[in-house]
Amino acid sequence: FPYERVLVLGLAKSGEAAARILFENGKKVRVNDMKKEEENQAAKELKALGMEVITGGHPLSVLDDVEIIVKNPGIPYDNVIVKEALSRNIPIITEVELVGLLSRGSFVGITGSNGKTTTTTLIYEMLKASGEKTKIAGNIGTVACEVAKDVQEDEKLVIELSSFQLLGTQTFRPHVSVFLNLFEAHLDYHKTLDHYAYAKAKIFANQTEEDYVVYNADDGLVTSLVQEANAQTVPFSVNEKVNNGAWVDNKYVYFQDQKIIELKEIVLVGKHNLENVLAAIAASRLMGATIDGIQKVLTTFRGVPHRLQFVRELNGRLFYNDSKATNILATSKALSAFNQRVILLAGGLDRGNSFESLTPYLTNVKAMVLFGQTAEKIKESGEVVGIDQIEIVDNVEQAVHKAYQISNEEDIILLSPACASWDQYRSFEERGDMFVNTVHKL
Ligand code: ADP
Repeated sequence: FPYERVLVLGLAKSGEAAARILFENGKKVRVNDMKKEEENQAAKELKALGMEVITGGHPLSVLDDVEIIVKNPGIPYDNVIVKEALSRNIPIITEVELVGLLSRGSFVGITGSNGKTTTTTLIYEMLKASGEKTKIAGNIGTVACEVAKDVQEDEKLVIELSSFQLLGTQTFRPHVSVFLNLFEAHLDYHKTLDHYAYAKAKIFANQTEEDYVVYNADDGLVTSLVQEANAQTVPFSVNEKVNNGAWVDNKYVYFQDQKIIELKEIVLVGKHNLENVLAAIAASRLMGATIDGIQKVLTTFRGVPHRLQFVRELNGRLFYNDSKATNILATSKALSAFNQRVILLAGGLDRGNSFESLTPYLTNVKAMVLFGQTAEKIKESGEVVGIDQIEIVDNVEQAVHKAYQISNEEDIILLSPACASWDQYRSFEERGDMFVNTVHKL
C-alpha cells in the first residue's frame, strides 16, 4: 500500500475497520464523518487512539495533503467532497481494496444484481464441508478488510461484493470471481447500465490466466462483458450443456463432465436458486471443494434466512419463509419456484403501487392470507384470478394460524409479502422471525 496519508471518508462499520487497520499499520489516518462527535462513538474512539477526526460535515480542507481516500461505498460520486477529490486527482478506494493487501490466503469474490448472499454462503459452506479452513465476509455483517487481515496462508476467504464496493478497487484480484447476473438495479446511483456493468466488471479486471471467472452463460450482458476477461472463463447454465462449466439435464447436475448430485436431492427450491447452486459448485470446485463436501451442503442447506428458506414440514404441509421478498418481483420468483398448491401469506407497507403485475404468478395460489396496509389491494388482484379463499388478518402470527387451519396435506405455506415490513415490523428479519417462531410452535 504505497500511500502514507489516508483520509477515511464515512465512519460506518467498514470505515471504522479500515481506519483502525491502516492506523495499526503505521499510516497517518484522518477520519471525516457527517455525524457530530457527541453522538459518534466510533469517532470518539478513533480520536482517543490518536487519529485526526473531523466530524459534523465535509469541509473541503479535509482533502489537504491527502494521498488516497478510503470512501464508504454508500457515499455517491456526485457528493461535493468526492467531486472535489476527483478534480484534485486523489485516488479513491473502498475498504475491499485492502483485502488483497491484507489476506495471506486466496479468495473468491461474488457479485451480481441478485443471489449474492445465497451464493456466497453456499461456497463458504461447501469449502468448509470439504475440510478447507474458510472465512466469509460481506453483507453478512462482517467487514471484508477486517476479516481479511486474519486470513492465513492455508485459508480461503469468500467475499460478497456489491457494485458500490467494486467501483473503489484498483488492484483487487480474486483467484476465482463469480458474476451471477446483471439487472437494471441501482440505476439511481450508477445513472446508466453501462456504468453499473463497468463497476461489476471490475471484479475480474485484475485477474490473470491463473485465475478463473465463473459466469452466467444464460445472461447475455454478463456473457459479453466476460469476453474482456484475462482469466479462464468457466460458464454455468440452467438451460443447456456448457463446455468446461456447470450445467444440468433433467436429472443431474454436472461440473466439467462429472456428475455432482441428483437434482431431487437439492433442498433449495426455485430456478433462481439452481443458478446460485451451479455458480457455487463451479467456484467451490475451483477453490478445492470435494464432491462429497458439495453434496453434504446441497442435501441439507435450507437457504439463507428469510430468502425462500425452508422452515419445516408439519403433517404434510411445507413452510417457507421468504420475508426478504419486499417487492412484487421477488414474490413472483418465489411463486414460480413451486408446482404444488400454495397458500400465500402477503401484505405490508403501502407504497402506493398496484399489485396487478403479480396476477400472472398467482395461478398456483389456492388461498391467500393477507395482512398489513396493502391487504385490501392484494385481495383485489387475487379476486381477478379467481382465488376462492382470501382471508385478511391482523399480523403474521395470525396469518400462520389461519393458513395452517385452511391447509391440506401437500400444501406449501409461503410467507412472501411482496411489500416492505415497516408498517408493522422493524425489519423484514423481524417479520420473518415472527413467521418462523410461530410455525415452530404449531
Ligand atoms: P443478494 O444478496 O444479491 O440480495 P440474495 O441471495 O439475498 O441476493 O437473494 C435475494 C433475493 O433475490 C431472493 O429472495 C430472490 O428473490 C432473488 N434471487 C436470488 N438469487 C437469484 C438469482 N440467481 N437470479 C435472480 N433472482 C435471484
